[in-house]
Amino acid sequence: MKYFGAHVSAAGGVENAPLNAHAIGAGAFALFTKNQRQWRAAPLMQQSIEKFRQNCATCGYSPFQVLPHDSYLINLGHPDRAALEQSREAFIDEMERCALLGLDRLNFHPGGTLGQISVDECLARVAESINMALERTAGVTAVIENTAGQGANVGHRFEHLAAIIDRVEDRSRVGVCIDTCHTFAAGYDLSTDSACEATFAELERVVGLNYLRGMHLNDALKPLGSRVDRHATLGKGMLGLTVFRYIARDSRFDDMPLVLETPDESLWADEIAMLKNFEKP
Ligand SMILES: [Zn+2]
Ligand SMILES: [Zn+2]
Repeated sequence: MKYFGAHVSAAGGVENAPLNAHAIGAGAFALFTKNQRQWRAAPLMQQSIEKFRQNCATCGYSPFQVLPHDSYLINLGHPDRAALEQSREAFIDEMERCALLGLDRLNFHPGGTLGQISVDECLARVAESINMALERTAGVTAVIENTAGQGANVGHRFEHLAAIIDRVEDRSRVGVCIDTCHTFAAGYDLSTDSACEATFAELERVVGLNYLRGMHLNDALKPLGSRVDRHATLGKGMLGLTVFRYIARDSRFDDMPLVLETPDESLWADEIAMLKNFEKP
């Protein structure tokens, strides 16, 4: 079965996220469990945790339908030791928050070299960070998102994702999230059915679709290979609707959160309805 949703607001408390998702007809959702632009956050309150769990149950969301996203400040491949340590602590805190909420995965951008270390060294640091986080937490899978490759960010090649996974000790708790906009910006075409066929075959060959724990469904404002991360409403960018119809009709994308991060949230309900329609033969 397909579970389409959006990255909804958790303003006023994480317990509001499932309600916001339900209101737009979503079968899945993403959220930040803390302010994504700050290092520190107050611990989740017991009341908030209980309400979150209750609201998920009432609205029909199981953990596999939810894809929490970590803070944008975290760089698990940071070249500087002290900054790397800060990122690792923050990431472990985010993993723990997910566990408290009863969630089973945490989506994150792998990080960047800042032009100070090699891509390989950066990928090794990301893997080491994941190993440390997995050792210190339980029940939550670290889900690496592919990136557009903007600036000095790693993770735009499927080989980067594979190189990280290769170095992870507990492979049962590492996965990937593929963002359609990032994939296209990174130079993998998804604008036609045959391009989708080839790109997902490449993902299968290099990483393995068995690691797929979620997708971000975004159209791309910039052309193929631009390395620029600018999302567009479905059908309003360079990708067009083909890839979204393709994903909706392909069982390899069943039973995981398929989440919009498109810029106009007033259109999310319509975009979700359109995706559900694509499923029909
Ligand atoms: Zn994304
Ligand atoms: Zn993006």
